[in-house]
Amino acid sequence: MSTTLELLKKLIACPSVTPEDAGCQKIIADYLVALGFNIEWLPFGSVTNLWARYGQTKPLIVFAGHTDVVPPGPLAQWHSDPFTPTERDGLLYGRGAADMKSGLAAMLVAAKNFISLQPKFDGSIGFLLTSDEEGPSIDGTQKVIETLRQRQEHIDYCIIGEASSDQILGDQIRIGRRGSLSGKLTIFGKQGHIAYPHLAANPIHLALKALTELTSTQWDKTTNPSFPSTSFQISNIHAGTGAGNVIPGTMEILFNFRFSTSVSPDELKAAVTKILENNKLHFELSWTLGGQAFLTKQGALIKTVQTTIHELTGLTPILSTGGGTSDGRFIAPTGAEVVELGPLTTSVHQVNEHVCIADLEPLTKIYQCLLERLLLM
Ligand SMILES: [Zn+2]
Repeated sequence: MSTTLELLKKLIACPSVTPEDAGCQKIIADYLVALGFNIEWLPFGSVTNLWARYGQTKPLIVFAGHTDVVPPGPLAQWHSDPFTPTERDGLLYGRGAADMKSGLAAMLVAAKNFISLQPKFDGSIGFLLTSDEEGPSIDGTQKVIETLRQRQEHIDYCIIGEASSDQILGDQIRIGRRGSLSGKLTIFGKQGHIAYPHLAANPIHLALKALTELTSTQWDKTTNPSFPSTSFQISNIHAGTGAGNVIPGTMEILFNFRFSTSVSPDELKAAVTKILENNKLHFELSWTLGGQAFLTKQGALIKTVQTTIHELTGLTPILSTGGGTSDGRFIAPTGAEVVELGPLTTSVHQVNEHVCIADLEPLTKIYQCLLERLLLM
């Protein structure tokens, strides 16, 4: 059986641009079958999902992650082919090297090491994998979790192998994520000649006061020490016909909230609507919820992760809720304790994505120690 580096190279060589799995989960399933895992394919739509379990008793510790990757971007800027794993100067290059095929390879080898040393133990190990994390995330983890919930298969602890470290392996773990809520706002006025403003209604002028209010509002109901405060950001504004003598008839604004668990999406929607109505605007507003905010239960898992990392690396990891959304948002609401722990985030989604080869064995060891502590002690 292969080392973490060998397994990682096999996974990078599969061009699994979301929602394609490109054979990654077959490699993983074969690996897990050889360890004695029970394998279940749970496809939804065009998405490949894999649920694998070893053992039938509690507690159930799940390694979760995704096999899909973001597109490579401009190929000319890559120093080697994104789907040909390439070693240079102690780094392994390839799309998915950091996000998150190194996490997957390390988890698999950790499970193999643990089971070969300790084939009988109280509890179970699961793997929950999807090829739909970098895309719409509709037919992936969310659907698998729903399936598990229906048959009352409850996850106690979940370790997601997403890149989480900042400067050194283990210096940061994620214990939650902010939510993302986007809005598309159209303000209606009346088009007219710029020399006859009394015959027109300028939507830009009409909206200014409300926009200022939106950008200066405190959205959180209470301060939450685990999160930065909820932010409102305008990403696009468009109005105008291009002509310098025309008052435009409409203005379109795109904005986004990154929100904490101190305020709900419905509360944000209601507060925005109220500001627009108070300013007597004629408007249309539509919303897209990109992801719910979550903060994991503070229990045995976080403590075990902290002490394990400290013993193996000497570091005390920062407990962070930063970064984009992750599939943890679908797992945490089941009551499972969820932690994201993986390699450095430095190059994720960039061209020339890479992982430090010297981090692979320590990461594998951290995952293996977590299994030992959560299942044997
Ligand atoms: Zn990822």
